[in-house]
Amino acid sequence: MAHKVTLIPGDGIGPELAAAARRCIDATGVKIEWVEALAGQDALDRFGTLLPDATIESIKKTKVALKGPITTPIGSGFRSVNVAIRHALDLYACVRPSKSYVGVKSHYKDIDLVVVRENSEDLYAGIEFEQGKPETKELISQIENFSKKKIREGSGISIKPISIAATERIVKFAFQYALQNKRRKITAITKANIMKFTDGLFLKVAREVAKEFEGKIAFEEALVDNMAMQLVQKPHNYDVLVLPNLYGDILSDLCAGLIGGLGIAPGANIGDGIAVFEAVHGSAPKYKGLNKVNPTAMILSGVLMLRYLKEEEAALRLENAVRSVIAEGKSVTYDLKPDPKDPSAVGTKEMADAIILKLTK
Ligand code: NAD
Repeated sequence: MAHKVTLIPGDGIGPELAAAARRCIDATGVKIEWVEALAGQDALDRFGTLLPDATIESIKKTKVALKGPITTPIGSGFRSVNVAIRHALDLYACVRPSKSYVGVKSHYKDIDLVVVRENSEDLYAGIEFEQGKPETKELISQIENFSKKKIREGSGISIKPISIAATERIVKFAFQYALQNKRRKITAITKANIMKFTDGLFLKVAREVAKEFEGKIAFEEALVDNMAMQLVQKPHNYDVLVLPNLYGDILSDLCAGLIGGLGIAPGANIGDGIAVFEAVHGSAPKYKGLNKVNPTAMILSGVLMLRYLKEEEAALRLENAVRSVIAEGKSVTYDLKPDPKDPSAVGTKEMADAIILKLTK
């Protein structure tokens, strides 16, 4: 029976990447019934909203989606379509593997890290108070009353909620992911020494959850500032990282940098029985429609999707096809050439063609 999957092309470079990934996934032979749904600029042009209800309903129905990147509008009421999708579907776990591929320019070799980022709260909760607004002044005066501390005139306020329940589920998710994927260690990363009631809570809950997995998966803790340095100096010492939302966002880009950049970093947003797969990178508007950017991150997001759909054999074949096209270094996009101006670089579509050729040979 065919798997039903919602395909959201997104905007900017999204549609060309989504088309490339779809063709590669179909070429594995796995039967997928794609249900196209819009979000981002196209949705705004056609339906007057960046995120139509029908798109959310489609993902709720198919339970699985592959999504192209979407531009975050500046100055509109919408914070971010991407964050809105994660919140609407309670996709609480963001999983971002960073794996080295031979042939990709990088300062490091044999990197194999997985970031598990809490996706539903922390400073991304979207609870913000603009500088100068009456409600912000009122909030500040109440906080000053409670805390007996002064907040500087002209401040804006962003709220950082971290709960026991959300921490418990993300840390459990990370341990279960580690067990299922035969990983060796979890590192819980916070700034618990400074933010005792939010990061401190995250760490306390993580320690409790870790006890349930004692003897099965190793557990350690680290401070986020130190971790940024450790990852640059000794990335091979680490395995699965579990973090609150903001640190997860920042360190997953750092990890993408370790493997040679955003062009090859895939991701998944997972909730209970529902998942949306997407590249770590954004919509790179300046490359829109040029058939120029690297489809690898989007295709590898498709590999994660195939694994989620329990199509392990097809996932492995597609990953190996991507790996060998990159290793050969011939039919690859400009960013994977030693010199980005190399005229032999191919376009998005042609790199996908080369991957499909490997799959079907
Ligand atoms: P970006 O990731 O879109 O692009 C930054 C740069 O990275 C590009 O200029 C390009 O040089 C390179 N790059 C990105 N993807 C590439 C690819 N596939 N191949 C080759 N090079 C690639 O980041 P940005 O410019 O900060 O963001 C653009 C828009 O995307 C913003 O509106 C941002 O909010 C949004 N965004 C969306 C998502 C998402 O949809 N999940 C994620 C991040 C950013």
